[in-house]
Amino acid sequence: MSSPTFVACLECDLLHRQTQLPSGGEARCTRCGALLYRHAPPDANERALALALTACILFVVANVYPIVGLEVQGTHTSSTLFGAVESLWDDEARTVAVLVFFTTIFVPAAELIGLTWVLVTLRQGARGRGAVAILHFIESVKPWGMVEVFLLGVLVSLVKLAHIAIVEPGVALFSFGALMAFIAAAAAAFDPDAAWKQLETIR
Ligand SMILES: [Zn+2]
Repeated sequence: MSSPTFVACLECDLLHRQTQLPSGGEARCTRCGALLYRHAPPDANERALALALTACILFVVANVYPIVGLEVQGTHTSSTLFGAVESLWDDEARTVAVLVFFTTIFVPAAELIGLTWVLVTLRQGARGRGAVAILHFIESVKPWGMVEVFLLGVLVSLVKLAHIAIVEPGVALFSFGALMAFIAAAAAAFDPDAAWKQLETIR
């Protein structure tokens, strides 16, 4: 018989003895109710990979095409996300430019590329270069990915701008909406416990 495994609650440190859960079940702390661990379906990381790959494609579309086109007194302008960051930088709003770049371009890109890399290599039964560091990195930067905050900000500005300009939502705006959903779905489907266990067996 194997010795029991203990899990500490990440919120209140209470120790719990780990038990077998039914598929799709989750264990919560008896003191504070925080999530301890889940029993993800066996194909969870296959699904996470499919969702992450889709999100990668959406990320490219969202960054290549204009977010919005504006027409003011016959003059038409449009901008991509990176173009908007550059304008902020040139307008001396450098802190905002850095924040937008970090939270809407760098973090989502790093998270998606890292997750895809780890899942693709695990699927081939290999340990991808830097897989452990990447998994730690994904955990630590997760709170800094703010595509949804950005999207909300853009939508509020567009509603306000609609009074003074003709606003044409660009392809990238819709891609950002879909990207937000796919990043959330990939993160929800991803089963880190299974990934860690698999990495340990490859070691
Ligand atoms: Zn707790």
